[in-house]
Amino acid sequence: NSTGGDAARPITVIRGDGIGPDIVDATLRVLDRVEAGLDYRFHDVGPAALEAGDELIPDATLDSIAETGLVLKGPVTTPSGKGYTSVNVALRKRFDLYANVRPVVSLPGVVSRYENLDIITVRENTEGMYSGEGQTVSEDGSRAEALSVITRDESERILRFAFDLARERGRRKVTLAHKANIMKSTSGLFLEVGREIAKEYPDLEHDERIVDACAMRLVMNPEDFDVIVTTNLFGDILSDLCAGLVGGLGVAPGANIGDRCAMFEAVHGSAPDIAGRNIANPTSVILAAALMLDHVGDSERAGRIRTAIRAVIAEHDRVTPDLGGEGTTDSFTDAVIERL
Ligand code: NAD
Repeated sequence: NSTGGDAARPITVIRGDGIGPDIVDATLRVLDRVEAGLDYRFHDVGPAALEAGDELIPDATLDSIAETGLVLKGPVTTPSGKGYTSVNVALRKRFDLYANVRPVVSLPGVVSRYENLDIITVRENTEGMYSGEGQTVSEDGSRAEALSVITRDESERILRFAFDLARERGRRKVTLAHKANIMKSTSGLFLEVGREIAKEYPDLEHDERIVDACAMRLVMNPEDFDVIVTTNLFGDILSDLCAGLVGGLGVAPGANIGDRCAMFEAVHGSAPDIAGRNIANPTSVILAAALMLDHVGDSERAGRIRTAIRAVIAEHDRVTPDLGGEGTTDSFTDAVIERL
């Protein structure tokens, strides 16, 4: 299960559950085809780990991630209810994956409201409304509280990350989405730091938008946006909105990036409604793998993979039912591989 020799780069592969194993296996076939030089270390988390008689997040998985620093991950089911925390959130926290990067690009052949969009959302992944601090419900259940925490350090880190990313990728503009008019302390601090950081990047255009107006403008004039940087909750919502602009979650990849570790995955979930039927669209995980190759400096292979995916979808060749085709996960993957 390795595409390279002794010099192969080790990566941790988490196949996930539901449609996860099918679409991750499809992705590994694509990586093998381009001889990406990766040495796959397979590990489980979540339901797959529990089924194997292990912990929710086994130590062996954590050790592997710490060692490889690079993870390709399929979706993992988070059953609703108490006592079962999200594995995804736990991994982000454990490895300090502070930046959630979600690029969306229009793909000809995918039914969507717009063409030629290319927007990257950079979402702060560790604090804000999702910090999980101070969550209480009064005894009679009539009042609930949670703390939203924003720090200067984390704000600086994510804002610098976004401006650096924009510069490295030759983008023109960074839009900061906030709600400082109402959430004066938390969002106010984020905005203040953003203005300071923006001054360090005079080569990039800097733009500020109040998040609600930003959402409206994204729907009405999405071509005005290039890179968006924002706090956790707003980023969660805006990045799904952006995925919707190009045709939905089925074609959107995501990366969770920290200083020592990075995890690449589909944006969608484990799709229990279609699991085991060989009809899941593997595009998101394949594009996530392309992001991973970009991350390790192999943009040449990443580009080839994207070109192949675009061609398959544009030509409607053996595509899966979500794209209006009659193909399967396997036939779609065959079509991608033939073009590589
Ligand atoms: P989902 O994204 O799994 O499914 C939503 C809809 O989109 C379903 O109808 C599904 O069939 C369809 N869909 C999703 N991916 C598809 C694909 N690749 N090809 C074709 N159709 C696809 O969302 P959900 O049902 O809300 O969540 C299911 C489970 O996944 C939940 O337990 C949730 O917690 C988990 N989840 C995990 C992650 C992750 O691991 N990063 C992300 C989101 C949700």
